[in-house]
Amino acid sequence: MTTDTAAQAAYVVAALLFILSLAGLSQHKTSRSGVVWGIAGMVVALAATVGLASRSITATGLVLIAVATAVGAGIGLWRARVVEMTGMPELIAIMHSLVGLAAAFVGWNGYLDVDAELSGSLLGIHHAEVFIGVFIGAVTFTGSVVAYLKLSARINSRPLTLPGKHVLNVGALVAFVGLTVAFVVRPNMGLLIAVTVIALALGAHLVASIGGGDMPVVVSMLNSYSGWAAAASGFLLSNNLLIVTGALVGSSGAYLSYIMCKAMNRSFLSVIAGGFGTPAAAADDGEQGEHREINAEETAELLRDATSVIITPGYGMAVAQAQYPVAELARKLRDRGVEVRFGIHPVAGRLPGHMNVLLAEANVPYDIVLEMDEINDDFAATSVVLVIGANDTVNPAATDNPSSPIAGMPVLHVWESAHVIVFKRSMAAGYAGVQNPLFFRENTQMLFGDARQRVEDILRGLDALDAPVREMAGTSR
Ligand code: NDP
Repeated sequence: MTTDTAAQAAYVVAALLFILSLAGLSQHKTSRSGVVWGIAGMVVALAATVGLASRSITATGLVLIAVATAVGAGIGLWRARVVEMTGMPELIAIMHSLVGLAAAFVGWNGYLDVDAELSGSLLGIHHAEVFIGVFIGAVTFTGSVVAYLKLSARINSRPLTLPGKHVLNVGALVAFVGLTVAFVVRPNMGLLIAVTVIALALGAHLVASIGGGDMPVVVSMLNSYSGWAAAASGFLLSNNLLIVTGALVGSSGAYLSYIMCKAMNRSFLSVIAGGFGTPAAAADDGEQGEHREINAEETAELLRDATSVIITPGYGMAVAQAQYPVAELARKLRDRGVEVRFGIHPVAGRLPGHMNVLLAEANVPYDIVLEMDEINDDFAATSVVLVIGANDTVNPAATDNPSSPIAGMPVLHVWESAHVIVFKRSMAAGYAGVQNPLFFRENTQMLFGDARQRVEDILRGLDALDAPVREMAGTSR
């Protein structure tokens, strides 16, 4: 068997391992094995690629590849070990930016180092691939960098609304098509520089134009773009595995974006076009009346008398790492005969499935963790709802204020229950930058402070309420 045949066979094995990985990652129970399949696929892919390259590379080249692999793997391991769960979205965004940058470099390299054997229509196809690869790579690069800045709160998450923003986006796309034709007919560096600059500006503008509430779709969309950028590099490098893997990432990211858009009642095309068609609503983060406060002891009393409790966690639970005391509180209440369930909004937190992962980590049983659609009709018959660090995902403005930036997004109807207790540190707005009218409703009370500390206070409060009962039981024996 030649090296080439062996490498192609290994690529098929790696592609199958990646497909198994995607299948495994689609469910909690199998997600660990999904990660293991992915690692195995990547090891096979790297070994086969280096084996293939070793035919035409000098010993120095191989040493450089080994050093680059060791440095990259070292940085990857270090970041993965130190990253907080709350920092995952921005880590993913910055990773996507690297894929985009790599694709743009591969495209540029394809222009500077053209295979001498290519001629006629094949050369034309090569130049089209170069142009498209650079365009997708550069859009992905700056789009992901802006997403990183927004997700890490280094810049404001509100949408940028330049005058004529849609004309700018469409103009950039039209210019790209025109320049591609010109480049295929007469390739030159000036055109390649022009498309690189246009794509860099377009990527930054597309993501900057999208508001905080729509960022989940942007993250999965950039995931998809990074896949297509990798596939474009695969065509340029004649690497089948890169084409297959890029297509897997591209299509699964596109499908995830579609699911997220459906969950958020957004038009897929409107979001990928930088918020096209969505009203330029003014964000409103001012206070909207008087709010009422409650303390942990009073909350414990309310919970002691409750028959049914729904907990709706959000990003603040992740920040506070409150999932462990929250799980303990759920256990305690269930032991007392209270019906306890969790209501999970599809975009709660900063990652798809963020809350499910945290609750699974704290051993909350899966059967009491319900999706928004499964629980939304039950709030009206619930005694107490504990909103733990959630804000946008429980904002009634989404349903009753058509001019709100989050109008139309389905939310958890927590306000329909008898009592709503909101755990947060201040009256600050949520990620979308809009104030929440829930906080000013008659049946809502604010429990200020770090969510973890407040839930621990409630646990102590429940113990204190039980103490006299325990003592009486002790004396009567
Ligand atoms: P939000 O981000 O809207 O609000 C979180 C709330 O938690 C804040 O109001 C904050 O208030 C509070 N908080 C922060 N830290 C603490 C703490 N230590 N203790 C108590 N409270 C705390 O949360 P949601 O989960 O409701 O909504 C998610 C938002 O993120 C949506 O807009 C969604 O579109 C967006 N998004 C989601 C992604 C995903 O894939 N899931 C990805 C990107 C964005 P305060 O500061 O006053 O404490």
